[in-house]
Parts: sequence; C-alpha cells; structure tokens
Amino acid sequence: MSKNKKKSNEKRMKALNNSTVQNLLYTDSHFHYTGMLEASAKIKSDREAINDPWMEEEAISNLINSENFQGMDIGTNFDDLPNRYNLLKDHSRIHLSAGIGPWGTDREESVDFQINKFKENIERYPISAIGEIGLDYYWNYGTPEKQEELLLRQIEISEDMHLPIIIHTRDADDATIKILKERTFKYGGIIHCFSGSRELCDVALSRGFLISFAGPITYKKNEELREILKTVPQSSLLLETDSPYLPPEPFRGKYNTPTLIPLVYERASEINKVSIQELSKTVSKNFSDLLGNPKRLD
Ligand SMILES: [Zn+2]
Repeated sequence: MSKNKKKSNEKRMKALNNSTVQNLLYTDSHFHYTGMLEASAKIKSDREAINDPWMEEEAISNLINSENFQGMDIGTNFDDLPNRYNLLKDHSRIHLSAGIGPWGTDREESVDFQINKFKENIERYPISAIGEIGLDYYWNYGTPEKQEELLLRQIEISEDMHLPIIIHTRDADDATIKILKERTFKYGGIIHCFSGSRELCDVALSRGFLISFAGPITYKKNEELREILKTVPQSSLLLETDSPYLPPEPFRGKYNTPTLIPLVYERASEINKVSIQELSKTVSKNFSDLLGNPKRLD
C-alpha cells in the first residue's frame, strides 16, 4: 500500500480543521445534496458504519443550517426538483437550481418529453438558476447534436424565466465557446467546476459569466488550472465543492461534501494571494449579486 493510501481520516480531518476559519461565511456555489445522501447510504451498506466524519449526516446538516454557510443545490435531471425542494425548502441560505445535464440525451425519454416535464416542475417549485446544463464530449452522451439541442432549449427557458444559467462543459471547449459567442446572456451565468482552456475562460468572462473553481485546484498536477484561476478578476470568481464528486486534497479518492469547502478556500487564497476573509466577502457578494438576495424560495 502506498504512503498516500495509508493516510488516515484522522490526518485528513486535521488538515480540514487547520484550514477552517471560525465564523467565516463559506459559499459553496455547486453541490448535489441527494448525491451526498446516496454516497452516504452506499458507505453504510459497504461497511456498516461511516468512519468518515465529514460524510456524517449530522455534520452536513449542521453545516447547511449554520449561519456561516450558503450555497446552491444543483439539479441534474428533468424530474429531480420536487424531491430536492422537499428536502431543502426549510434551509433559507440554500438556493435550488434545476436543469437537465447532457446525460439527459442518454435517457429513454425523448428530449421533448423531458423538457415538457421539466417546465412543469420549474413552474411549480421556485428556483434561482437553470442548470446544470451543457456539453460533455468526454462521456459522449447521446450525440453532440442532441446535447446541443437540449442545452439551447434550456438556455431559452432561462431567458423566458429571467434566470442565470449554470454551465457544465467537459472536453467541449470549442462548441461551448461557439454558443457563448453567438448569444447574449442577460441574466448571467456560471461556468461550474472550471477545467477548460484559457480561451474558454476569457470568452466566458467577456460574456459576463462567473467562473467557479472546485477541488481540482488543489490537485498537484493542475498547475495550468491554477494559472487560469490567477487571471480571473475577483469580481467574477466563485468557489464550489461539486459534492459528492472531486474532493479537495487530502480527501482525494473519497466522497466529497460541502463540509470540505474550507480546503478549496484555503488553496484559492494561497493562489490568488488574498486573505480568506477577503475571499469570503468577494465570493459571497458575487453569489448574491447573481442569484438575488433573499433567495427565491418561499
Ligand atoms: Zn455538478
């Protein structure tokens, strides 16, 4: 077993505690709450007990109820909103988005069917943004044409509803750049878990998008990504966990939850040479300016 694999959760929690600044407002712009619940249930069924303190339901619930946390729970499918709304409706600092990701093109249901059901849901339950939507040529869902159709139809919905969008883009920089250049985005948007090229970042910034960085800024080999982060103006910056995916170091290989967001802040503060306090203010302001404050839930 490698030295890394032996690293115990105790050591991980020490790194997390060292990175956490008390009474600071942490904003996690992108997480999947139901994905975390599923991950947590999977751990329980695999090994009967959860020995991962940051995964404990109580730790997550304490965090999302805390005044020092705000964020957005992100939709991925046409039919996930009612359940997410019921789980999170009482949390006044958690926004909800809804969107059909590019994986929707792999489903049995037609794009028309999904869009119609999706529209019914977002008329019924209040949301703050449309997403995540976008293009993913890494996993090659459906076809590029179908992915683009699904994306464009939801961009139109966001315009009708006066809502910002949250873009997922993976190995699809050119196609995403083309769409960003062809349209105006009056209500703004976020490129989430940014992992693209400098060109994509520049085009997105020029179209008024916020750029959101996640755990990968802490990964050793991602020097290029850190260089891109340095060039993003503070007024266009967001941070996120993308839980339960992409945990920051030293939690790589584990499941992620928003309780790990301090590690993303710590690294971003080092890279940008700004204090964590200043980063907290900046990210919180950018988040509220985009989504409106108070949130649209009622
Ligand atoms: Zn996501």
